[in-house]
Amino acid sequence: MVTLKSHVLGQWHEARSDFATLVDPCTEAEIARVSSAGVDFGAALEFARRRGGPALAELDFASRGRMLLELARVLREDRDELIALSLLNTGATRRDAKFDIDGALHALTHYGELGLSIGERRWLVDGEGIQLARSARFWGQHLWIPLRGVAVHINAFNFPAWGFGEKAACALLCGMPVITKPATSSALVAERFVRSAIDSRVFPEGALSLIVGGTGDLLNRLGPQDVVAFTGAASTALSIRTTASLAGSGARLNVEADSLNAAVLGPDVVSGGETWAVFLRDVEREITQKSGQKCTAVRRIFVPQAQLATVRAELRDALARSVTGNPQDESVTMGPLATASQLQAAVAGVARLREEAGLVHGSGTRVDGKGAPSGKGFFFAPTLLQCDDPRAASAIHEHEVFGPVATLAAYDGNARFAADLVARGGGTLVTSLYSDDRAFVADFLQAGGAATGRLYVGSEKVAAQLPGSGAALPQLLHGGPGRAGGGQELGGTRGLELYMQRVAISGDRAIIERLAGSNEA
Ligand code: NAP
Repeated sequence: MVTLKSHVLGQWHEARSDFATLVDPCTEAEIARVSSAGVDFGAALEFARRRGGPALAELDFASRGRMLLELARVLREDRDELIALSLLNTGATRRDAKFDIDGALHALTHYGELGLSIGERRWLVDGEGIQLARSARFWGQHLWIPLRGVAVHINAFNFPAWGFGEKAACALLCGMPVITKPATSSALVAERFVRSAIDSRVFPEGALSLIVGGTGDLLNRLGPQDVVAFTGAASTALSIRTTASLAGSGARLNVEADSLNAAVLGPDVVSGGETWAVFLRDVEREITQKSGQKCTAVRRIFVPQAQLATVRAELRDALARSVTGNPQDESVTMGPLATASQLQAAVAGVARLREEAGLVHGSGTRVDGKGAPSGKGFFFAPTLLQCDDPRAASAIHEHEVFGPVATLAAYDGNARFAADLVARGGGTLVTSLYSDDRAFVADFLQAGGAATGRLYVGSEKVAAQLPGSGAALPQLLHGGPGRAGGGQELGGTRGLELYMQRVAISGDRAIIERLAGSNEA
C-alpha cells in the first residue's frame, strides 16, 4: 500500500503513525495511507514565508504567468496517469476525472495567460485616477499590492486536481507561496498532481508545499499577511471561522461551502423546443456528473405547474438511462460515492428529504454497482424526489445531499415566486434559469439575483454552446452568498484580489501616474 508524503521545508516527509486508510470506492480494497504526523507546521510556514515568498516577490506578473503556463504543460504530460488514479481513488468515470483534471489545467493556463497580459508589473491598478483638490496636482489612485504572507489552501474531496489548480494559480500569480492541503479521502490523486508540480521545479523552492492529512496547529500560526482559502462543508467552515487564534490573527479567510443550487424553468419553455432540451440535458448532467458530488450540482428544480408532469416523466426517463457501477466497466456512466461516510450521509439525507418529498426515481439506498463485487462499493443510483409544497418545506432548501439527488417542485410561473423559492436555499453558488423571455429573466434577476453567486441563463440562441451550469469557468466568479460561504474565487483578475491589498495612494499627480502606469518609482 502506498504511503502518501507531505512536502515541507523543501523535502518530502513520510509520517510514521496516525494513518488514515484510503479505499477504492468500488471494491473497498485498501489503496493508500495518509498522515501528516511529525510535520513541524511552524517551520513549514516559516520556510514558505522566508524562502518561497521573497523568491516569488522578486518576479513580475508576466514571469509568474510563464511559470503557470509551464506548470500546466508539465502536468498535462501526466494526464493519463492522473485519470487512472482518479478512477481508483474516487470512483470517477473517465469523463468525470477529465472534468476535474482538465479543469485544473484550464485554470492554470487561464491565469498563466492573464499574467502575460498584465505584463512586467508588480502591482495592479484599480480604476481611474481621481483629482482630490482644486488643482489637478493632488491626485489619488487605488492600487492592488500583492500580500507578503503565505496562502494556505484547504480543499474538498470532490475536486482533488481542480481544487489545487484553481486556488494555486491565483495565489502563485500574485507571488504568494502556497501550502496546499487536499482532503484526505482523495489525497492519492491530489498528492500525485502536486508532486509533479513540486518535482518539476518550475516554481522556486518554498513556493509550493503540500500537507497530506491534518493541518495540526498550522491555522494557529498565521498572521495578518496570510490567507486561508477553504473549500468544504459549511459545518467545517464554521469551526474554522470560529477558531479564535485564526480569527484574531488578521489572516484573510475565504470560504467556499455548501450550496442548494437551483434550476428554474421559465413559463415560456415547452417540451420539444431547444431551450427545453438544454434544460433537461443540463439538469440530468448536473444530477449524475461526478455522482452528484459537485458543489455546483443542481439540488432543486422549479418548473411551472403546467410543465411538472412532463418534466417529471422526461427526467425520470433520462435518469433511468444512467448506469451506476465501477467505471472500469465501459458501459458505466456514473461511479460510486467517494467514501463509506458519503454513502451513509446520502442515505440519511434522502430519508430526511422524504419527510417532505416523495420518491420519483431511485430508492434512496445503497445499490450494487455494475462491474463491482456484490455487496461492495459505495454505489447510490440517481434519485429524483418531488415536493408538493415547496413553500412549506424546509429540508429541501436547507439540507445538501452530496450525491446524485435532486428535488422537483412546481411554482406558479411568476419569476418573483421562483426567485423567493431559490432564495430559501440561503445563498447559492449557481442558479440556472431556462427561458427565452427577456422580461422573465430580468424580473428573476431583480428579485433573486442577490441570492446567488452566478446566474446561468440557458436559452435557444446559446443552446449549442452551454457548458452546463456546474462548470466553474476561470473567467467568471465562483462563490456565493450566505450558506455558500460568502467567498469569491476565479473571475479573471477578481480571483487575484484575495491575495492582494487594495491601497489608496494620494500625492503628486506626476508620481502617482507614474506608479499607476509603469510601476517604476
Ligand atoms: P469537509 O469535510 O468540510 O472537508 C473539507 C476540507 O477541510 C478537507 O481538506 C478536510 O480535511 C479539511 N478539514 C476538516 N476539518 C478541518 C479543520 N478543523 N481544520 C482544517 N481543515 C479541516 O468537506 P468535504 O467532505 O471534503 O467536501 C464536501 C463539501 O464541500 C460539500 O458540502 C460541498 O458542497 C463542499 N464543496 C464546496 C465547494 C465550493 O466551491 N463551494 C466545492 C467543492 C465542495 P480532511 O479530509 O483531512 O478531513
